[in-house]
Amino acid sequence: MQSTASAPRDVIPAHLLKGQKALVTGANSGIGKATAIALGRAGADVVVNYVTGPEQADEVVAQIESFGVRAAAHQADVSAEDQVVGMVGRMVEEFGTIDILVANAGMQRDAPLTEMTLAQWQKVLDVNLTGQFLCAREASKEFVRRGVVPEVSRSAGKIICMSSVHQVIPWSGHVNYAASKGGVQMMMATLAQELAPKKIRVNAIAPGAIRTPINRDAWDTPEAEDDLLRLIPYDRVGDPEDIAYAAVSLASDLMDYVVGTTLYVDGGMTLFPGFATGG
Ligand code: NAD
Repeated sequence: MQSTASAPRDVIPAHLLKGQKALVTGANSGIGKATAIALGRAGADVVVNYVTGPEQADEVVAQIESFGVRAAAHQADVSAEDQVVGMVGRMVEEFGTIDILVANAGMQRDAPLTEMTLAQWQKVLDVNLTGQFLCAREASKEFVRRGVVPEVSRSAGKIICMSSVHQVIPWSGHVNYAASKGGVQMMMATLAQELAPKKIRVNAIAPGAIRTPINRDAWDTPEAEDDLLRLIPYDRVGDPEDIAYAAVSLASDLMDYVVGTTLYVDGGMTLFPGFATGG
């Protein structure tokens, strides 16, 4: 089954996020790249975080700059506290502040339980969960310091945690990844509760199967894609832009009353598709 491309990028209103400063982690590939570009198209200035692949980060910066907004690449490992502190500090220095954090960086190190090393377990928890904690903490310090600037946004800051359908769907052979995303869900909800009185909105996006390098094996042959489509009622594999558009919407004042929610962007993957014909 052929997948259908998502809507064209010009669906994004060019001034929706005008004057806002956004940081996207893991923004030189896949979902992070599409999100950074979409935020730029919506009028935000964007810091493009990456850990490896400076050339790809520079390409994303150039694409964003072509919309007439500012962009800069910043190398940092999101699981390293000093690097995250340095990145947000530099962003505040050079861009003036931060309004939007998309904590997107993530990875997989798959293995059956009995073969999974402590290093594989720890690395995925460090990047996928601790990395989001560190970025959220540093961004929030600036949100609280600056407070609401009504001409810019109704809230003092927006945090979007990139989770996964595996925050609720168990995933054999990926216990480190599923545990990290389950952790993201509860971290997001707790931060949302804690920060809402300070007018900071924390939400998550839970992508289903999106066509990116992280899951290439699941879609890069017709057989693999057919297998995958059995899990997706909407009958197409997602594109990075599907997530990027959700992130732009959540970051905007259109969603100002949305606090502590996970937006599933999954073509219905979490609807127990096996029950459509049985149960
Ligand atoms: P990707 O591999 O294309 O992108 C991941 C990005 O994170 C890359 O830029 C990578 O360099 C970066 N990264 C990894 N470790 C890092 C670190 N220590 N510091 C900074 N950056 C780091 O994969 P993707 O699909 O775009 O994944 C983005 C996010 O979406 C991840 O959190 C992933 O778990 C989540 N997600 C993806 C899917 C999917 O189907 N593709 C589904 C659910 C959730």
